[in-house]
Amino acid sequence: MSASLGLYRLQQVDRKMDRSRAQLDNIRATLENDVELKQALNRVEAAQTENFHSDHQLKNAAAEAEALKIKIQQAESSLYGGRVQNPKELQDLQKDIASLKKHLSTLEERELDAMIKAEKSENDLQSAKTDLELIQARLGNEHKNLLADQSRIALELERFAEEREAALGPIEGSLLQTYENLRQQKRGTAIAEIVDGACASCGTTLNPATQQNARSPKQLTNCPSCGRILFAN
Ligand SMILES: [Zn+2]
Repeated sequence: MSASLGLYRLQQVDRKMDRSRAQLDNIRATLENDVELKQALNRVEAAQTENFHSDHQLKNAAAEAEALKIKIQQAESSLYGGRVQNPKELQDLQKDIASLKKHLSTLEERELDAMIKAEKSENDLQSAKTDLELIQARLGNEHKNLLADQSRIALELERFAEEREAALGPIEGSLLQTYENLRQQKRGTAIAEIVDGACASCGTTLNPATQQNARSPKQLTNCPSCGRILFAN
């Protein structure tokens, strides 16, 4: 049995644990950070503000046009009521009415614009609300699944921790320290398998002597290129 077998087995467990921990981190981040939901909430809020404004503008435009219509009616009843006889005054009244009517058509255009805007903002608001409801419903399901995954992976990790304890048994303390240090330096892989005469981690071809040394039950052999401990099956 080669000296690196124990460490190789330990690394297999450690890798499973690394994967599970990464999965748990991802789940936690997803649960905490619902960008999509926040965006949908912001959209509803913005649409509500816009809707409130456009309703307000529509009411103002309608009230302004209504007030002007009353003014025109009053001017017309003066014009045709017979109380005003003076031709100059009558002419002025006619001019006034013409200019009021011109202004009225401007106001009515504005009212129509406001109406279109109000309708659009009402539609926007409804669609933002629908989107939000859909996202909330979907996330509700997603969250349920994520929570289920979370407890499954947590249980898995507990089982791996027991496996790790068992794998640690035959490994002496100083060796473990070397392994931990290498794992930190080498992004999680301290032990490299020899596959087809090469280091499986860095791909360097290993000479027969190195391959033979890696099988030694007494001493560890490092890859001459990446420095990882070599393991020969
Ligand atoms: Zn290597």
